[in-house]
Amino acid sequence: MNKYEYLLQDLTNLKGVGKKTALILKKKKINSLLDILYRLPESYTDRSNLVRISDLQIGKICTVKVIVKKYNFPRVRNLPNRVICEDMSGRIECVFFNSYEGYIRKLLPINNEVTISGKFSYFRNSYQITNPKYISQESNLILKKHNKYSLTEGITEKIYTNIINQVLKNLPNLDEWLSPEILKKFKNESWKNSIIKLHDPTNIGNIKSNFYRRLAFDEILSSLIVFSQIRKKIKKIKKQKKIFKPITPYRIEEKLGFKLTNDQIRSLNEINNDLCSKTKMFRILQGDVGSGKTIVALISALNAINSGYQVAFMAPTEILARQHYILAKKIYPSNINISLLTSKTETKDKRVAAEYLKKNITKIVFGTHSLFQKKIIFKKLGYIIIDEQHKFGVRQRKSLSDKGGDNCDVLLMSATPIPRTLTMTIYGDMDLSIIREKPKFRKEIKTYSKLETKIDEIIKFVNNEIKHGNQVFWVCPLIDDSSKIDHVSTKKRYDYLKKIFNDDVKVLHGNVESEEKEKILEDFLNKKFKILVSTTIIEVGIDFPNANVIVIENANKFGLSQLHQLRGRVGRGNKASTCILMFKSNLSENATKRIKILKKSNDGFFISEEDMKLRGYGDILGFKQSGIKNFKLADPIQNEDLFILAEKEIKRIENSHENLNKYKTLLKLYDQADVINDLA
Ligand code: ADP
Ligand code: MG
Repeated sequence: MNKYEYLLQDLTNLKGVGKKTALILKKKKINSLLDILYRLPESYTDRSNLVRISDLQIGKICTVKVIVKKYNFPRVRNLPNRVICEDMSGRIECVFFNSYEGYIRKLLPINNEVTISGKFSYFRNSYQITNPKYISQESNLILKKHNKYSLTEGITEKIYTNIINQVLKNLPNLDEWLSPEILKKFKNESWKNSIIKLHDPTNIGNIKSNFYRRLAFDEILSSLIVFSQIRKKIKKIKKQKKIFKPITPYRIEEKLGFKLTNDQIRSLNEINNDLCSKTKMFRILQGDVGSGKTIVALISALNAINSGYQVAFMAPTEILARQHYILAKKIYPSNINISLLTSKTETKDKRVAAEYLKKNITKIVFGTHSLFQKKIIFKKLGYIIIDEQHKFGVRQRKSLSDKGGDNCDVLLMSATPIPRTLTMTIYGDMDLSIIREKPKFRKEIKTYSKLETKIDEIIKFVNNEIKHGNQVFWVCPLIDDSSKIDHVSTKKRYDYLKKIFNDDVKVLHGNVESEEKEKILEDFLNKKFKILVSTTIIEVGIDFPNANVIVIENANKFGLSQLHQLRGRVGRGNKASTCILMFKSNLSENATKRIKILKKSNDGFFISEEDMKLRGYGDILGFKQSGIKNFKLADPIQNEDLFILAEKEIKRIENSHENLNKYKTLLKLYDQADVINDLA
């Protein structure tokens, strides 16, 4: 077994770990020794404080050193076994329920000195401790700080400590992968020493120390190496250049009625350059909600079409696909055959559409992920655009980049602005275009917070907006009333509003049939009713230029980024718009902070950064469920300098064509090795 394989061992290979324990740990996603090592202790119990029996404090954790004096084993069922122990100052009784004599004799041999730690009580003129867990004849095993890990039912602290101590004791010295220059920055802390220190209770929370930073750096470096390799592979793919005369935005602008922003034009140029280049494009267009990504994608698609290729444009929902399709119809020359494939498309039409794609008559097709069904065949697919993606991990993206063959460029669009350090580690395999600037003349969205009890004022306000022809989103966190959580449901709010606004209000949530859902959204878009009560399903991408008010109930339930996304559903037209955040009771300090940030700023990049500071990166919009790897130790906010250092190191590794074998163990430690293997 090599050093690394040792770490991958099954837990049952450890002493004292049976199948049952292993199974419980598995449920906590602890499968190997390695998983044990990267779980941090959360706090510790200090048992280092040795006291005399006469100084024992009742109910507090104390440690005593005593001589075992006498056994008292009553031969009556249900009566506990007792052991009398003494020190110079007094005596204690250890009380054992359900323990065998033999076990007790071994644990507490008569006339021997033992150290006992735990909570003592006072009963019938004597100190006593019941079923003590921390007993040893070797006092140094007890007299220290003891780590506390978050444990699951069925695993005691003792079992877990035994496990981790075994692992740490036999920890192999792995061959160093960090370069001497980098290692020096962490005062030459080796991996092994760092891991040991990580589990030293006196180091808990010491994230600024060299050992901790070394391990965090390892983690960052491993993911950057993977990205660097994927990039390298993609850049090696030679494709046929797309040859076209770039559409002048001016021509399109006439049809649109607005001018593109500088950021839109810059992003468009970056994409065009990629399309014309000899290597396959793998790019992400990142921009805040409402920054106008769609139009950039559509213009670039037209360029690809003009160079003789077909385009597949994928959206997360059918209604969004339709909206993009309608926009394309509006701005594309009429001789270009455009098609929309949704579940609503009739079978006959589907067949025709498929036929047209196969014959390269249809130049661009809009749809959901169903576009990638096997039965849909393109004659000359050259460009895939995927809107509103923030839920693909690196493995999914890799398989995506393989789709459509070498000649196929890929553009992803994401409306989740994230800080640069996070971009680096999430989209490090892609080129990046950013639209930061919002279209001119767009009015700020005014954001207010209101107590639920003031709902009458909100109704009045909403009523007034409706009278002026505007439309309103009303978002609730729940579908039905739940006895467990005290949040407002769409059902309750819909019933309430219905009494006031009659047919001007409709309700939408995840349980509504998809056809019905589409119809409601379509009707709302066509202004057939005024107020849409819904869950957060309206979060994604759809453009409702006539809606200018959004009310969000139980706003403290949502994260900052999510609130910002929801707010982005309004304020897309040129009207002044309003976001009303509703709360049940007075706000917590944290909630007040969040509201302040939202009121102050409409910049998604700024907001996501603040969000991360408040909640940690794992929680920002969708990333938790995304299959995107969570860091074990590194933190994109706390360790920004390490990300930058790792970025430099990657450049050095790339430029010096360093052999990556050196990093194999590192990649395995962070479960990235398979990605690299796939590339080979
Ligand atoms: P997102 O980036 O969130 O996908 P969209 O592409 O849906 O944003 O655009 C949001 C709205 O802004 C649309 O109504 C679109 O027509 C409009 N828009 C896009 N670019 C501009 C611009 N340069 N000036 C004014 N309005 C624009
Ligand atoms: Mg969009």
